[in-house]
Amino acid sequence: MNATGIVGEFLALKEETDADLLAMQCGDFYEFFADDAETVADELDLSVSQKSSHGSSYPMAGVPVDELTPYVSALVERGYRVAVADQHETADGHAREVTRVVTPGTHLETADDAAQYLAALVADEDGHGLAVADVTTGAFRATTVEDGLGAALTELYKFDPAEVLPGPELRADDDLLSGLDERTDANVTLHATEAFAPARARSRAREQFGAEAVDSVGLGEPAVRAAGATLSYVEETGAGVLASITRLQRYDPGRRVALDATTQRNLELTETMSGDGSGSLVDAVDHTVTAAGGRLLREWIRRPRRDRAELRRRQGAVGALAEAAMAREELREVLGDAYDLARLASRSVSGSADPRDLRAVARTLELVESAAAAIGRSDRLADSPLAAVLDRVDREATARLTTTLDEALVAEPPGTVTEGGILARGYDEELDGLIEDHEAALEWIEALPDREKRRTGITHLTVDRNKTDGYYIQVGKSETDRVPEEYDRIKTLKNSQRYETDELAERERELFRLEERRAERERELFEGLCERVGERAELLQDAGRALAELDVLVALATHAVRNDWTRPELTEDGGLDVTAGRHPVVERTTEFVPNDLHMDEDRRFLIVTGPNMSGKSTYMRQAALIVLLAQIGSFVPAREATVGLVDGIYTRVGALDELAQGRSTFMVEMRELSNILHSATEESLVILDEVGRGTATYDGISIAWAATEYLHNEIGARTLFATHYHELTTLADHLDRVANVHVAVDGDPDGEDVTFLRTVREGPTDRSYGVHVADLAGVPGPVVDRSRAVLDRLREDEAIEVQGGGGGDGTTQAVFDLSAGEFTTGEDGGADTGDGDDGTVGGPGVDAGSEATDGDAIGGSATADGGAPGRRDRFGEEAEAVLERLADIEVDETPPVELMATVQELQDRLETDDG
Ligand code: ADP
Repeated sequence: MNATGIVGEFLALKEETDADLLAMQCGDFYEFFADDAETVADELDLSVSQKSSHGSSYPMAGVPVDELTPYVSALVERGYRVAVADQHETADGHAREVTRVVTPGTHLETADDAAQYLAALVADEDGHGLAVADVTTGAFRATTVEDGLGAALTELYKFDPAEVLPGPELRADDDLLSGLDERTDANVTLHATEAFAPARARSRAREQFGAEAVDSVGLGEPAVRAAGATLSYVEETGAGVLASITRLQRYDPGRRVALDATTQRNLELTETMSGDGSGSLVDAVDHTVTAAGGRLLREWIRRPRRDRAELRRRQGAVGALAEAAMAREELREVLGDAYDLARLASRSVSGSADPRDLRAVARTLELVESAAAAIGRSDRLADSPLAAVLDRVDREATARLTTTLDEALVAEPPGTVTEGGILARGYDEELDGLIEDHEAALEWIEALPDREKRRTGITHLTVDRNKTDGYYIQVGKSETDRVPEEYDRIKTLKNSQRYETDELAERERELFRLEERRAERERELFEGLCERVGERAELLQDAGRALAELDVLVALATHAVRNDWTRPELTEDGGLDVTAGRHPVVERTTEFVPNDLHMDEDRRFLIVTGPNMSGKSTYMRQAALIVLLAQIGSFVPAREATVGLVDGIYTRVGALDELAQGRSTFMVEMRELSNILHSATEESLVILDEVGRGTATYDGISIAWAATEYLHNEIGARTLFATHYHELTTLADHLDRVANVHVAVDGDPDGEDVTFLRTVREGPTDRSYGVHVADLAGVPGPVVDRSRAVLDRLREDEAIEVQGGGGGDGTTQAVFDLSAGEFTTGEDGGADTGDGDDGTVGGPGVDAGSEATDGDAIGGSATADGGAPGRRDRFGEEAEAVLERLADIEVDETPPVELMATVQELQDRLETDDG
């Protein structure tokens, strides 16, 4: 296209930027042309008109200058990068240039209170560098991750970035790109390669934070590269907030609890598995009253700590607040009036703050004093770590800034600068003078009609102004003959005439001049004020952070009191001891049956069994959430709890839940298991809610078996493993640190009168629920039944030996006979636990059993053709009858419990027949 004129200019500017869309100012409008117009119109329901330009016609869509912001915001929220070209006057007309590019990670006008992270990730031989910035608050962090891309990504996902800048070396990395795609909504932006160059990035970072800060915090080269690139990107987009990025926070992921995206989802931390905010952990415990508090609580929950001193400090504060009800409420009320200081700081720095924003800064800074006073009035609070929260704020400086703002601003300033009337009297002599003169001039005009009426005797005389005529004197038609000589007629209307006088014109010019100068002076002073506030961005961030922290602590205390939570004791000994624990979310809507949980050195691996829907998942998630809550410094839902700090929480949730989400494949399941087996350490908590369900029973049990051995022998992570492979419960007899618990039910679990007791007891359940689970998952009846038959068949002659004991030396400990459903120890080369038998087995931990049976059983799964001969022979005539009965069952019509009973009955008949 070689358009000329305005469209040509548009297309040329578009060419210069790598943004997706361009909004170009044309007088009072911002216009989008050509393809951009179509896109914008589609996305935002704007109407498209046609712009002719030198014989061609182009689509055009525009928005008024004052309304650009919400449109750009809406586009950016949809993932577009939008360039804005402003128009400015020049000696010969006007020129336009791109002044900023608004992107998902540099979007200042977001309506969302949540943090909005821009991240850069680089890789080199020293590891991976990660930098994250929130331009809306000025938060900036960087770190070097040394354990590979996987660990770096885990760290990155925690921030749920809006935009990611991959270093040049990572741009073709499939793990990165597919991971970002699957786990985040982030836009991937290819920022200039030079920006990532070590020397350039370092100098950019030093320029921002000072050489001292960059070189002394021990960031590592990769982190510095990421930091420098991030800063240069923020600068390049023209967000204008660089000055609000005051502090380079180095953080050490090692002091945080590893919590990957899968686990965040499985534990429903910020949203449920189905994507709702309500029903999540945050939703349950969030009693914060400020946007910044809500943001901080989320940050704590997504990134729990492993730092016992810090956690104790938070606990101390929560504890004191829990006891001091009155002071807590008072504090909550004070905080309720707080505005978002970190965001206000960014807006002051970028020049987008309005007079009300500055008023809000002053009001909120005052709250620091009110909060301090509320804390001071309560001995409990004053003696607790809570008191120190505000010590991190330079309160003299906040007081000074508050005074400045109070002196400068009127009590209720308007929302825009152009309206005037922002600044208080007495703040600026010049302005006061201008205002006085302006008012005097106005008064003169206001008094004019009366004066003139008196002087001329005209009764119908008014003074008014409009756009075209300015100020004028209007006299009714009947009295125009009395008009004095110096009145110049300027207009004749139906019933009156309008006049001007030299004196009025002179006063009018004076008035306009004063109005203009007053507005100019106000703007000047306001900008100066904004600048002063912007210069104190760091102070505002400190104060904002402290108030947010008070808000979170008060919220946690409020929740603890209302729900009768307890302060957990924190240890480093790897134990987990919970008395009468509850699930923090489920307890809010359900008559919850509390349960105990005990894990220690000798009891690190719990196999949790019980029928489907009995409460296994809830029990395990409850354990994970109690640990997580303890590691944000919160109280926990239990009568008593001792929590050994963990370095990571890893979860893998069963196919059943995932199936409902339509995203379960066996591959996904195995990838998650693999991730856990690679990442978990002795200090981690692992929650496995079914493993191996996504494949055949035989495969599945093999994998579950081997994973148990590996977690127990090699990793030693504290693990809770819910399984429907009842066979696994026998592992407890042979692996030192494995124990069984089960969720009790009353009555025959397969019968009709089963009552879920929700009580967790020691020991295994006494049957396998595999078929039951398949049934409930909607597997067709004949398949369910056939699988039972195949499983029975498989159990014949099958054996799995248990590998390793506490020592993890790979020796065979015992052999599990699948047909007998028990261990055959001593007889066939297996051995009693720890007897030093030399039957070492190499290779995989699970022996697949005899090939003949395997092939036979699997080959026999085709029921349609009458099944394998062996089966028919074995079951005889009764089997025919059973099959007929099976075929008649209306699976869809029959309640699951009845189905279970029927399956049981049919099995019994087969067994009798068999025997
Ligand atoms: P499973 O994992 O065994 O299939 P779930 O953990 O999904 O079972 O729990 C099934 C249902 O029982 C859920 O609706 C849950 O809210 C409820 N539940 C679980 N544990 C308890 C408990 N201790 N007290 C009350 N209700 C519970």
